[in-house]
Parts: sequence; C-alpha cells; structure tokens
Amino acid sequence: MPHYTYLIIGGGMTADAAVRGIREIDPNGPIGLLTAEPELPYNRPPLSKGLWKGEALDSIWCRTPEAGVVFHRSCTARSLDLSSKTVTAENGTTFSFDKLLLATGGDARRLPTPSTKILYYRTLADYRKLRAWSEAEERICVLGGGFIGSEIAAALALNGKRVTLLFAEAGIGGRIFPEALSLFLNEYYRKKGVEVLPRQTVSAIEEQQGLLHIHLGQGSLSVGALVAGIGISPNVGLAKDARLEVDNGIVVDEYLRTGHADVYAAGDVAAFFQPALGQRLRFEHEDNARQMGLVAGRNMAGHAAKYDHIPFFYSDLFDFGYEAVGLLDLRLEIFCDWKEEFHTGVVYYLDRRRVRGVLLWNVWGQVDAARALLAEPGPFQPADLRGRIPF
Ligand code: NAP
Repeated sequence: MPHYTYLIIGGGMTADAAVRGIREIDPNGPIGLLTAEPELPYNRPPLSKGLWKGEALDSIWCRTPEAGVVFHRSCTARSLDLSSKTVTAENGTTFSFDKLLLATGGDARRLPTPSTKILYYRTLADYRKLRAWSEAEERICVLGGGFIGSEIAAALALNGKRVTLLFAEAGIGGRIFPEALSLFLNEYYRKKGVEVLPRQTVSAIEEQQGLLHIHLGQGSLSVGALVAGIGISPNVGLAKDARLEVDNGIVVDEYLRTGHADVYAAGDVAAFFQPALGQRLRFEHEDNARQMGLVAGRNMAGHAAKYDHIPFFYSDLFDFGYEAVGLLDLRLEIFCDWKEEFHTGVVYYLDRRRVRGVLLWNVWGQVDAARALLAEPGPFQPADLRGRIPF
C-alpha cells in the first residue's frame, strides 16, 4: 500500500499552494497527490480570461512537480477511512497517510438534458473543446450571468464569435452588482457585439441535426453549442461519507482542520469562519485557493497558523475590470462612490453601519485598503464613505 506523509486529494490551485506550504516547513516528507484530471496542476483563471487574449497555453502550468510530488492522475478518490487513515481510489488502490488534505473543489451544476453539445466550463479539457467549437460553430449560446457566463461571453465575442448570453437575472453579474451597474453591463456587452437576453430561463433543450434548440420562457433559439456557467456544488462526498462535518462545504476550524486532527480541507470545498466578516464562508475564487492552500500545507507540516485572510476576487469584462473584497451581498445597504458613473468608482456594501464588502470598479491597488476597512468596526454612515478609499 503506498504511504505518504502528506496525501492531497485534488489537483487544482489549492493543492499546488498546499505543496508549497508543506515544502516551506518540510523539504523532504513524501507527498502524494490524487487528481481526477489527467493533467498536472494548472492555473484556472486564464481558461476564461488570458488564453482568449493571446496568453500562451504553456503559461498556465503550476510548478508543483518541482517540489518532488508523486502524482496519481486520472485517479478519483472514492472513500476515506479515518480509523485506518486510508483513502481508496476508484481503481482499487488504497493509500495511507499521516496528514490528509481534502482540496476537492466543486463540480459544475448541470442541466437536466444530457448533450455532447453542452459544455460545463471548468477544466483545461473544456477550454480545448470550446476553442475547437469557437472555430467550427456558427453561433454559441452562453447560459448564466455569473463569472463563467460573463467572462466566456466576452472571450468568445473578442474572438469574433456570434454569441448569445442568457440568464435569469435582470443584468450581468446581477447577484453581486447594484442593479444599475448590471443593467449598464447589459448595454455595454451589446455594444461589444454580444446578444444579451436577460430574465430568461431555459424550459427545454433539444438536439437535432447538429444544432441545439433552446426553448426559453419566451421564444427559442438555435445554436451550434451551449456553454453553461450555472454554478458549482462543492465535492463533499468523501468527507460526508467519512462522517466529517459538512455544512455547505467541509467545515474546518481556524487551523483548517476538519473534526479529525490529521485531516484538513481548503479551497472551494472548505467552509471556514472569517473573523473580520463575522461569519462562516465558502469562497470559490483564486486568492482563497492560494492562501488557504498555503496555510493548510504549512499546518499539515507542523505549523499552527490561523487562517484569517480576507480573500478577494477579480474579473475582466472586456475593457472593464474589478477587484472585490468581502461580501458583495445585495441584501446589504449599498453606497456607490463614482468618479465616473459605471466607469470608475468604489461600491461599499454595509450591514448595520459596518462595511462588509467593497467593489473596486476599475480601481486598482486598493485591495489592502478595502481589507483594512472591513476590519474596522465602524459605525459608518454611507455618506462618510465618500472618498474613504481614494482613487
Ligand atoms: P456563479 O458565478 O455562481 O454563477 C452561476 C449563475 O448561474 C448564477 O447567476 C445562478 O443564478 C445561475 N444559475 C444557477 N442555476 C441555473 C439554472 N439551472 N439555469 C440558469 N441559471 C442558473 O458560477 P459560474 O459562473 O458557473 O462559475 C463557476 C465557478 O467558477 C464559481 O465558483 C466561480 O466563482 C468560479 N469562477 C470564478 C471566476 C473569478 O473569480 N473571476 C471566474 C470564473 C469562474 P442563481 O443564483 O439565481 O441560481
């Protein structure tokens, strides 16, 4: 039975960061990594951003192999036995460990209709498939107004594709942006050549003669392919079956340990308490994957550092870009400080006079200032916030 001092399940950016964290403390301890994908770890953000703007495919690879890791690729972990500290994979191999990290991320949510012409965009294989479709298909539909939908629609349009973006909300990014900003984005995307269909739900999909016929609440459209970005579900199955606590993610303490002292979880799958925001969160973005993976790796190797990082996220929408920190929750009170409306400004999200989220819209280099503001107890009146983060 292969034995590793450190066993990591998952081959994404969290896993890569964890390997670096382990190696900072323990240069030689054997590390095994199981990943369901056939690939070595790579950076995911370029798949929906840079690779569509001329970035080389070769630039996405992480440097995990340099850390002396034994990779088990195309290897899906099926069960975790906490009493024997073993993990058994789908191919029947059982691995034992001293310390385990669950960095299992999430799987894309799916529509009820199976079709080879629907892509749930998440992996390098998905990028390759969409590249091929973008050359072969006349028209592509993108479903979902969240991160994948907005980024992939822009990527395809930038590459000269006829693209239709449809989603249930009133505007692009409508779950996190103030409504006026998301309605502005609808018009902006239209000017960039994207056909934008807000407030639309898919009632049925049929595949006929190489085309997908997408039936909507009102009307229908026929396209060569559909890219769906309709969210992810965290991969909590292993943890749940092993009776670790799961509550919208694998529950971890401030040291990123699950209820078992030798089992850690980090990244998209982990639900952690964020002290400055005063609540338990699961965060599905790059910065959290990197920082949390690093801390988990160090702690697995003997450190005892608390994870109190306030993660940020970012996106590019054609020529616009933003960075955001904390909770962009539309139930909160919102105060917009624009230099030029919808072009440059800072949007504050407040809960009972405390700032809980900051959107830096075309404003750069102020993530730390936003973090510092989230850590301040206030109280803040919305109008006090004008100019609070300078830009
Ligand atoms: P997402 O940002 O959560 O957006 C999913 C959208 O799909 C939501 O607007 C959701 O609306 C909608 N939706 C859910 N079920 C639907 C259905 N059956 N039909 C139509 N719409 C539906 O997720 P994503 O865009 O799929 O991205 C996947 C993951 O990758 C996320 O974890 C995301 O954070 C990550 N990602 C991050 C970045 C970045 O940080 N820049 C970029 C790309 C991807 P409701 O809420 O109303 O259900």
